[in-house]
Amino acid sequence: MATVTKAPKKQIQFADDMQEFTKFPTKTGRRSLSRSISQSSTDSYSSAASYTDSSDDEVSPREKQQTNSKGSSNFCVKNIKQAEFGRREIEIAEQDMSALISLRKRAQGEKPLAGAKIVGCTHITAQTAVLIETLCALGAQCRWSACNIYSTQNEVAAALAEAGVAVFAWKGESEDDFWWCIDRCVNMDGWQANMILDDGGDLTHWVYKKYPNVFKKIRGIVEESVTGVHRLYQLSKAGKLCVPAMNVNDSVTKQKFDNLYCCRESILDGLKRTTDVMFGGKQVVVCGYGEVGKGCCAALKALGAIVYITEIDPICALQACMDGFRVVKLNEVIRQVDVVITCTGNKNVVTREHLDRMKNSCIVCNMGHSNTEIDVTSLRTPELTWERVRSQVDHVIWPDGKRVVLLAEGRLLNLSCSTVPTFVLSITATTQALALIELYNAPEGRYKQDVYLLPKKMDEYVASLHLPSFDAHLTELTDDQAKYLGLNKNGPFKPNYYRY
Ligand code: NAD
Repeated sequence: MATVTKAPKKQIQFADDMQEFTKFPTKTGRRSLSRSISQSSTDSYSSAASYTDSSDDEVSPREKQQTNSKGSSNFCVKNIKQAEFGRREIEIAEQDMSALISLRKRAQGEKPLAGAKIVGCTHITAQTAVLIETLCALGAQCRWSACNIYSTQNEVAAALAEAGVAVFAWKGESEDDFWWCIDRCVNMDGWQANMILDDGGDLTHWVYKKYPNVFKKIRGIVEESVTGVHRLYQLSKAGKLCVPAMNVNDSVTKQKFDNLYCCRESILDGLKRTTDVMFGGKQVVVCGYGEVGKGCCAALKALGAIVYITEIDPICALQACMDGFRVVKLNEVIRQVDVVITCTGNKNVVTREHLDRMKNSCIVCNMGHSNTEIDVTSLRTPELTWERVRSQVDHVIWPDGKRVVLLAEGRLLNLSCSTVPTFVLSITATTQALALIELYNAPEGRYKQDVYLLPKKMDEYVASLHLPSFDAHLTELTDDQAKYLGLNKNGPFKPNYYRY
C-alpha cells in the first residue's frame, strides 16, 4: 500500500486570522456501491445555455486535430471555436460566485496551491469552470474530465481549453469516451497528479484500478457526491484507502444549500417548465419531510397550495405538524391530490396501486436521489398507453381514459427539468477549493488514510465568504461573551454534533 509523502507546507492566511484546522471530524460507515459507469455519470443537470447546434459535425472529438490560439493541442473538446461563447457563460457565472472570486483574490498572492497538480472529474459547466480557473489562479496545474456524459457545456470546455486548461470532455460522450477522457487526464508523460477532485468516484476508481502507483504522490482526494463518498467509506472500511480523503458532500453548508434551499427554488421551476401548473389552491402530497421535503413544502405553501405530508419518522412528522402541514398516509389522500412529489431516498413509495387510484391529470414526480421512489416499471404494462407530450413529460393513459402526468420518467425532477442556482454551486465550489487547499497544505500527520469531513471552521469560512452578497453584518462576540460561552472569538461557533 502506498504511503503519503508530505512536506509540511505553509499555512494559508485566509482572512485576517490564521486558520487552525485541528478538529478531526467523525467517521461514519456507508453502504457499498457497484462499479461500471456510475449512476451519477448519467444523471445530468440541464445547462441554461448551450451554443452547440445541430450544424456541429458528427466527427468524434477524438478524431479531430484541434489547437488553441497559443498552438497547444493538450485538450480534447467538441469545438475549440466555441471558446468565445464559453467565456461569456463563465463571466455570467462569475457574477453569482462572488465568494469564490473573493477567495481567488484573497489567496492569489500566496498561491496556496503552488505545485499542486490536480486531476479533476466533475460536471464541466460554467460554474465548475470558475472553480477550475480559481484553482489555477491559486497556483495549481489542472487536468480535467467530465463526471457525466451529458452535462458538459461544450462551449465552456472550449473556453477552458483556450485558456490553457487540459480539458478532455464533450456533451454526449460514449462510455468508452468517458473512460478515455479520464485516462488522458491521469496518464500523461512528464506530469503526475498529486491531488484528486472527484464527483462520483469514477476517477478515483480508475486510478485505483489502472495506476495505483499514482497514489504514492497523491496528497489527498476531495469527493463531492453521495455516491463517491460511499465508495470512499467502503475503501476505508476495507483498509484499502491509501491517502486522506475529504468528504465535502456532508459539509453543513453543502447539505443545507443543496438539499433544502436548492430544492425550495427548483421544485417550482421544474413543475412550471414541464406542466404550466398553477399552484394556488392545488392539493399536493409530499412524501418525506427531510431537508428536500422541507424545501419543497415551503415553496408550495408560499404559493397557496394545500400541502399534505407522509412520513415514517415521528420526529420529522412532528416537525411537519408544527410547520402547519397535515400528516397523512398516502392512501388517505391519493384520490384527491393534484400533485404527488416524492423526496424520501427510499424505493416504491408510490406504487402501481397508488397510481391506479389517482385522479385524472394528477402530476407525479420525484425529487429524491434515484428513480425508484415511484414504481415506474409497474406502468410498463400492455393495458396502459404512454404518450410523450413534451420533453420529460409523459401522459400515462388508463383504459378508461384517465391520464397521469409523469415527469422525467420518475428521475430527479430538478436535475432533469430545471437549472440549479449558480449561488448554490458557488457554495459547493468554494467548499471544494478549501478542501483541496487544506489537504494539500496540511502538515504531516494531520490527516491519515481515512475519510474526513470538512473542518467546522472551514464550513463557517465558506458561509462567511458568501455573506457579503447579502450585505449581511455578523455580530462579533465580546471577550466576555466568548469566555462565557467557552468559544474562540473566531470560531468554530458550534460543536460537530450541532444540528443546524
Ligand atoms: P432526509 O433523510 O433528510 O429525508 C428523507 C425523509 O424521507 C426522512 O425524513 C425519512 O424519514 C422519510 N422517508 C423515508 N421513507 C419514507 C416513506 N416510505 N414514506 C414517507 N417518508 C419516508 O434526506 P434529504 O436530504 O431530504 O434527501 C432526500 C433525497 O433527496 C435523497 O435521496 C437525496 O439524495 C435526494 N436529494 C435530492 C436533491 C435534488 O436536488 N433533487 C438534492 C439533495 C438531495
